[in-house]
Amino acid sequence: MSMKFDIQPASNPTSEKDRIAKLVDPGFGRVFTDHMAIVRYNQAKSGWYEARIEARANFQLDPAGAVLHYAQEIFEGLKAYKRDDGGVNLFRPDANARRFKDSADRMAMAQLPEDVFIEAVEQVVRIDRAWMPGGEGSLYLRPFMIASETFLGVKPSSEYIFAVIASPVGSYFKGGPAPVSIWVSENYTRAAIGGTGAVKCGGNYAASLRAQAEAIQHGCDQVVFLDAVERRYIEELGGMNIFFVFDDGSLSTPPLGTILPGITRDSIITLARDAGKTVREEPYSLEQWRKDAASGKLKEAFACGTAAVISPIGKVRSVSGDFEISGGAAGPVAMGLRKQLVDIQYGRTNDPHNWIRKV
Ligand code: PMP
Repeated sequence: MSMKFDIQPASNPTSEKDRIAKLVDPGFGRVFTDHMAIVRYNQAKSGWYEARIEARANFQLDPAGAVLHYAQEIFEGLKAYKRDDGGVNLFRPDANARRFKDSADRMAMAQLPEDVFIEAVEQVVRIDRAWMPGGEGSLYLRPFMIASETFLGVKPSSEYIFAVIASPVGSYFKGGPAPVSIWVSENYTRAAIGGTGAVKCGGNYAASLRAQAEAIQHGCDQVVFLDAVERRYIEELGGMNIFFVFDDGSLSTPPLGTILPGITRDSIITLARDAGKTVREEPYSLEQWRKDAASGKLKEAFACGTAAVISPIGKVRSVSGDFEISGGAAGPVAMGLRKQLVDIQYGRTNDPHNWIRKV
């Protein structure tokens, strides 16, 4: 299905002077561009309708709107990267569109056709191209969908609003990636078998905040969750997947099921296998992690996701004791994979898997 977007440019966009000032040090997620994409859905009408690009503005939402009560909400996160020739690259937007459909399915929401998702993202990038930061910055795109039916009964909403907003972001790590410390959450879990861990719904993040706060209290940057059945196996961080690198050159990462199927995770598996490395998708326990770090069998651990690409993990803290990985320094495998991915994203190297979509 394709939809024609009605494009209504903002009548009062940010001045060039203000825009340039906002782009100096945008941080993450606080500066927004002038426009947004909106597509509405009404089951009783004709499904998806009214695709628009318009000035970014507040939504009208009835206080009985379903999302405010039963949290039918899903989202995605992807970035647009500025190439040296001035053009713009999207990285695997088709994978985000697919995951968005899977999230909608799990949350009993209307499924947006993948080409409408991609078109909405591209239209926002086109109209707000002037907001692309230079250097290692990027334009973070946030497609999301909320249940908008005015009804307090517990059932799937019959109306939805899909939107895409954009936020210029600076380089995640100034001066190169610094190793992060992580806190193992032994009190809270993130996802049960049969639950919603494998999809990107807002509720997963609401449920992770208490554990993340605990990580901060213990002086750590991020939280890592264990499986909800045995509380033994490493699952993922609050917003990133995780990899382990061993002394025989192989890598391992937790299997899919209750974790988010990260697009960075999938790209890293592909790049590592392209390079002839063995990558196992298998459970790995906290106990084994501790042993392997002590014996030197484990050489590196790193977290990965769209926001930071790859973050080396230097230190692990938990109720049952702390340990370091390779003296807490960033390792060569993490750094090599990071460079490879970033070079593809910014169009500095060839793209053997056709991951880039030029806008
Ligand atoms: N796990 C969780 C819980 C996340 O929120 C994210 C960020 N989307 C990831 C993993 C990494 O996914 P991706 O590589 O697609 O950004």
